Amino acid sequence: MKKLFRRRSLHLCLINTGGCNGCDVEVLSCLAPRYDLEQYGIYFHNNPREADIIVISGPVTLQWKEKIKELYDKIPEPKIVIALGACALSGGVFKEGHTCGGIKDIIPIDAKVPGCPPKPSEIIEAILKVAPKLIAERER
Ligand code: SF4
Repeated sequence: MKKLFRRRSLHLCLINTGGCNGCDVEVLSCLAPRYDLEQYGIYFHNNPREADIIVISGPVTLQWKEKIKELYDKIPEPKIVIALGACALSGGVFKEGHTCGGIKDIIPIDAKVPGCPPKPSEIIEAILKVAPKLIAERER
């Protein structure tokens, strides 16, 4: 598995579209020595224009609706979008507020990680599940 990922390193970009930051803290934990996401050649690089994997946390607030569509279009192909946490999936605890619900109704997503917040191990599992598809598309 590590061999496959180390052939081509991937860049991960985290975008919070209005959440509480609980999910973001768990993503940062993935980079700590205990989980060490970088061992798979996956690096945190917060520039959407250079990203391969986009992790979206939080519900989509009204202000983010158009902005996230624009950002999505600027991210080069091939790209993978992961919806992280209950808020990104359905609006979660912010559903009744000034939000448009989850990200899946706004841009296409490739993987879902449920939870409030999801565990780092679940986040890494989701990334490793979809990343081979991305690497295969890149090599085509
Ligand atoms: S899913 Fe939970 S932890 Fe994540 S942004 Fe929403 S409220 Fe916060």
